[in-house]
Amino acid sequence: MRPVRRDVSPIATDFAHYEDAKPELISRLGGYCSYCERPIKTNLAVEHIEPKNGPFAQPDLQGRWSNFLLACVNCNSHKGSKQVLLQDILLPDRDNTFLAFVYEADGKIKISDSFMAAQAVWAQNTLGLLGLDKEWSETLDQNGQQVAIDRESQRMEAMATADHALQEFMKQANNILEEIIVNLALATGFFSIWMSVFDLYPTMKIRFIQAFKATELSGCFNTTTGQVLTPAANPDALPFGGKV
Ligand SMILES: [Zn+2]
Repeated sequence: MRPVRRDVSPIATDFAHYEDAKPELISRLGGYCSYCERPIKTNLAVEHIEPKNGPFAQPDLQGRWSNFLLACVNCNSHKGSKQVLLQDILLPDRDNTFLAFVYEADGKIKISDSFMAAQAVWAQNTLGLLGLDKEWSETLDQNGQQVAIDRESQRMEAMATADHALQEFMKQANNILEEIIVNLALATGFFSIWMSVFDLYPTMKIRFIQAFKATELSGCFNTTTGQVLTPAANPDALPFGGKV
């Protein structure tokens, strides 16, 4: 999961209407779901980390910039108004969530082997909250044509695209090809998959970190070496940030 920094609020007060924060959020974070990382052209929603409705609602945070991320319909609806205990989950605006998960070729997400027991529990809670470990499914229209694919199969597609790009890169790396690959990654989304596939190539990892908005700003990567820095710097001192 791509770590990001949304930085300080563009306005001095809370937002009267949280939807008004959306253009600024997209401009700063890029048009991707903050959780599953897929690119979203339309229907990207302002996500309330702590819920705005239901028994665990935090009304004070409904218009609070620091409570906002961006989410796709699946992540948003699965998370719903469930209780969010910041101390028990990992969040991309405050933890180094890139370290938490491994993206496998079959589209599954696993908890990182490097995680100690407590960290693994936080990571598993995060997957559960968002339903990111749900089984494969697709939506078919009346004629049996596939009209929508879920997050898991989109991850598989992104993995195949990134693998193909890597094959080309290994044949003939040059600046133009690198730029094309970065643009392909931006269009395909799934930053973490591109970083995993190009794991052995620091120059490409640095390009991805710098191309996906708000990622470098998270302070979770060394942008000279491409290496991951842990724990997250949590530059905005968000509650329960910097756990990993
Ligand atoms: Zn999502």
